[in-house]
Amino acid sequence: MLDFAIIGGGPAGLTAGLYATRGGLKNVTMFEKGLPGGQITQSSEIENYPGQLEVVTGMELMDKWPQQCQKFGLKHDMSEVTRVSKNGDTFQLTLGSGETVEAKSVLVATGSVPKAAGIKGEAEFFGKGVSTCATCDGFFYKGKDVVVLGGGDTAVEEAIFLANICKTVYIVHRRDQFRASPHEVEKMKKFDNIVPVMNHTTEEIVGDKMGVTGVVVKDKESGETKTLEAMGCFVFVGRDVLNQCLQQEDGSYLCDLNDSGEVIVNLKMETSLKGLFAAGDIRIDAPKQVVCAAGDGAIAGIGAISYLQ
Ligand code: FAD
Ligand code: NAP
Repeated sequence: MLDFAIIGGGPAGLTAGLYATRGGLKNVTMFEKGLPGGQITQSSEIENYPGQLEVVTGMELMDKWPQQCQKFGLKHDMSEVTRVSKNGDTFQLTLGSGETVEAKSVLVATGSVPKAAGIKGEAEFFGKGVSTCATCDGFFYKGKDVVVLGGGDTAVEEAIFLANICKTVYIVHRRDQFRASPHEVEKMKKFDNIVPVMNHTTEEIVGDKMGVTGVVVKDKESGETKTLEAMGCFVFVGRDVLNQCLQQEDGSYLCDLNDSGEVIVNLKMETSLKGLFAAGDIRIDAPKQVVCAAGDGAIAGIGAISYLQ
């Protein structure tokens, strides 16, 4: 029986593990299906983590977090948790292997994954020109033209990353103003090879048996369509929270969610179910920042100690 089971090993899960183990909990396991670090490990440039003067990659930022937690006794189980349920005072976690684990308290810190734009060709060419990770796949398009879809911080930051590798980066946004922070937009404007295609919707990603050859976009005002010739299309149109492990056999969820599927928590990161905490990108009103996810994790770790006392 675990004292505290943490689902997800991003900034929220790791920080919860640090605070819970350093605060005295003995039997704490973090279930992380991949390597610890979370989605930020896909980012090429972090410049807003406090105390970090140099610009670092996401990998560099997260490098020492797991070691720091393990020093205080956090265990890492490299498993996916497919379901969490509760029977009396005890939580049951079902793992990908089918094995079950019991815990007295649980934190769900499963974060989010890239959202699909839902356009024709996106699924067909995924991995054959369509990507959601510039750090992973940008190099394949060295000296080539690519298209970035989206107008948020991720789209703008990753367009800048790609501009250092690719010949031309078209950034297609459905409105005439970016959602990204003005600071990032100003940075992007300094790149001559980034071509904003504003007020355009994306109609289709086209290609042949070798992969993507272009992206068809439509001017929202004139209705005219044109094809941006490109070998790569990077989709950055937001994120979906990963709440599937909270779904029960009858289709209901273990705790209250909002209409977007985000977990409703109070300021102590407590959910509607006693002993179940949520932290980071998965919770309502998450600012979706590493520092905030880490802060949530610390609150949840401290909360688990109080709950068990
Ligand atoms: P995540 O980081 O998403 O971690 C969740 C973890 O849970 C993942 O490792 C996943 O594998 C694991 N997991 C999910 N489901 C299960 C399951 N069922 N069982 C086991 N494990 C599971 N923030 C900033 O502050 N500054 C930036 O510059 C910045 N840049 C970004 C750039 C990019 C490209 C992206 C994608 C995000 C960026 N962010 C940035 C946002 C930041 O990465 C997130 O806000 C933060 O990582 C959220 O942390 P989290 O712990 O809640 O979730
Ligand atoms: P986001 O902020 O939700 O932006 C998504 C963008 O995609 C928006 O511009 C949106 O257009 C557009 N979009 C959504 N659905 C679309 C569709 N179907 N077709 C075409 N365009 C579509 O997502 P994000 O950029 O991934 O960022 C997620 C969170 O992480 C944000 O809170 C962000 O601030 C944070 N983050 C922070 C940093 C940083 O601090 N440096 C870096 C990356 C991410 P509209 O604008 O018209 O809605």
